[in-house]
Amino acid sequence: MAYQVDPSKCIACHTCVGACPVCAISVADDQKAVIDPAKCISCGTCAAVCPVGAIAPAMAAAKPAAPVVEMKPATDTDIKTAA
Ligand code: SF4
Ligand code: SF4
Repeated sequence: MAYQVDPSKCIACHTCVGACPVCAISVADDQKAVIDPAKCISCGTCAAVCPVGAIAPAMAAAKPAAPVVEMKPATDTDIKTAA
C-alpha cells in the first residue's frame, strides 16, 4: 500500500523528497509534497522523517455499501399461501 501526503498538514519542508529511496516524491505547484503511488514501495522512510506527521499509508479504498434489501412484512395472503 502506497503512502500519501496529507496536504493540509504538509509544511513544504521537502525533507521527504530527498529521503525517498526510489524518488517517488515530487513537489506540487503549491510546494507541497506529492507521492506517486506507482513508484512508492511503502518503505515508510518519508513518514519517519516528516517533522509534522503529514505522511501515512493510504487508506484502503472504501468499499461500496452493501445493497439495501427492502424487507416487507408478511401479509395475510403470504401466510395463507405458505400454509
Ligand atoms: S514510503 Fe518509501 S518509497 Fe514510498 S514515498 Fe515514502 S520514502 Fe518513498
Ligand atoms: S517531510 Fe512532511 S512536511 Fe516536509 S514536505 Fe514532506 S510531507 Fe511535507
